[in-house]
Amino acid sequence: MVNIILLGPPGAGKGTQAKRLVDERQMVQLSTGDMLREARHSGTEMGHRVSEVMDRGGLVTDEIVIGLIEENLHHDAPGGFIFDGFPRTLKQADALGAVLDRNGMSLDHVVEMQVDDAALVARITGRYTCGNCGAVYHDATKPTAKPGICDACGSSNLRRRADDNEDALKIRLMEYYKKTSPLIGYYYALGKLDTVDGLAEMDAVAAAVAKVLDRT
Ligand code: ADP
Ligand code: ZN
Repeated sequence: MVNIILLGPPGAGKGTQAKRLVDERQMVQLSTGDMLREARHSGTEMGHRVSEVMDRGGLVTDEIVIGLIEENLHHDAPGGFIFDGFPRTLKQADALGAVLDRNGMSLDHVVEMQVDDAALVARITGRYTCGNCGAVYHDATKPTAKPGICDACGSSNLRRRADDNEDALKIRLMEYYKKTSPLIGYYYALGKLDTVDGLAEMDAVAAAVAKVLDRT
């Protein structure tokens, strides 16, 4: 059982790699972004509060996301957990360490996915996904074969995230550099950091991630 964090700016490909690890290694993906998007559709008070912040590209409060992670650590994860999009602040990183400790668990690797800024902007503006099966497409680099129809499952439920536009992305990038990028130094100092080239082809990134995980 291996517990890892996927760390990197928006659009680095964390979600894509996480899904592969889930399929190939019986790991469980804990994506705070996915949890928050679910919460916003739930019509709860919390969902309401986070919607506005997310659409703008800002960070939701540490208390909310730490709470979400704690609630989900009780899942059965034979292959271990993948923390995707969490932690995003030093406070969240400290909290994760404490929570893992309390549950008798530990963090094995932090995989930083490095991608340059121009590539991120290009990747994110143009991105859309299938609301039915989760397949990811892109206007320029990977459009669906038939417009409006998912190649993988045939659904016409294709959607764009409200925060995948240039204005929100600018804020997301700034939040990343101000609040999340210090975690690179934090985990380096803890001796947990490994960096992979997130600009490489998807299979090559997956191979690089696998190499880190297989090193004990
Ligand atoms: P991406 O990494 O592509 O920007 P995510 O799906 O991980 O997207 O997150 C989308 C949004 O959800 C973030 O911009 C932020 O508003 C909120 N969010 C997700 N995870 C966290 C977190 N750990 N702390 C604070 N806000 C978060
Ligand atoms: Zn689909």
